[in-house]
Amino acid sequence: MAVLIGGIGSSHAPSIAHAYDQGYQERDEWRPFFDSYARVADWLCESRVDTVVVIYNDHLNHFHFNAYPTFALGVAETFDICDEGAGRRDFPIVRGHAELAWHLAEQLLNQEFDPTICQEMQVDHGVMSVLPLLSALPWRLRVVPLHVNVLREPLPLPLRLWRLGQCIGRAIENCPEEARVAVVSTGGLSHQLQGQDFGFTNPAWDMRFLDLLVGNPGLLAQATHHDYMARGGVESVEMMLWLAMRGALAQSGRDFREIKRFYQRSLLTGYGLLALELFP
Ligand code: FE
Repeated sequence: MAVLIGGIGSSHAPSIAHAYDQGYQERDEWRPFFDSYARVADWLCESRVDTVVVIYNDHLNHFHFNAYPTFALGVAETFDICDEGAGRRDFPIVRGHAELAWHLAEQLLNQEFDPTICQEMQVDHGVMSVLPLLSALPWRLRVVPLHVNVLREPLPLPLRLWRLGQCIGRAIENCPEEARVAVVSTGGLSHQLQGQDFGFTNPAWDMRFLDLLVGNPGLLAQATHHDYMARGGVESVEMMLWLAMRGALAQSGRDFREIKRFYQRSLLTGYGLLALELFP
């Protein structure tokens, strides 16, 4: 049987991928950031997590507005990596977990979620700015990618993300496949990349968001898109993706502990990382 081990929330950003590729791990200003991910990668190893379900949003790199799915699940043994304009990054092809993914597909449909089923899918920095920080190479972790539209109205509600996470958590826990799984949500934190408020960040809100996600996620699930955008900037509505991770843990009814929490304001976005481990 598959086992749900815990969850991770993480920012995703091209700047993270750039810093990784440029070898900034040893730079003073980046060391706390990379050390935090190293701690979480160690935890994933220690707890023998072998598969991550990654909930993220594609940034018009694989999907385009001619047919942009609200939810899209990657059901394949491998996923290639998007060229986001500077060439394909030099990583091996990403390993999928088709059996777990098909099970998720069936369970989500049975629970009234209807993802587009993708047997071919390229993943962009929504997955790839984070994966190398959590998984040794060649890829130790297998990935089940689940894209959610947070780019173009109409968007799914925050409450819907919470319920999606609950369904994912239940599906993992009743999966007959052998897998030790963590649910990873990526996006945010506060940032705005358009208009007069380009470059806006709100560290106070970001840190309150992390507190609420741990202690009072129901409040975040009841919030509106406008509530997120007003506090964190337009593109920060991505933060609601973190509710899926938290919902997956909540449905288990098990208590959890924090493995790592990190926050840093960078130039254009708040970087956040939160790793939670369920008690057996
Ligand atoms: Fe994004």
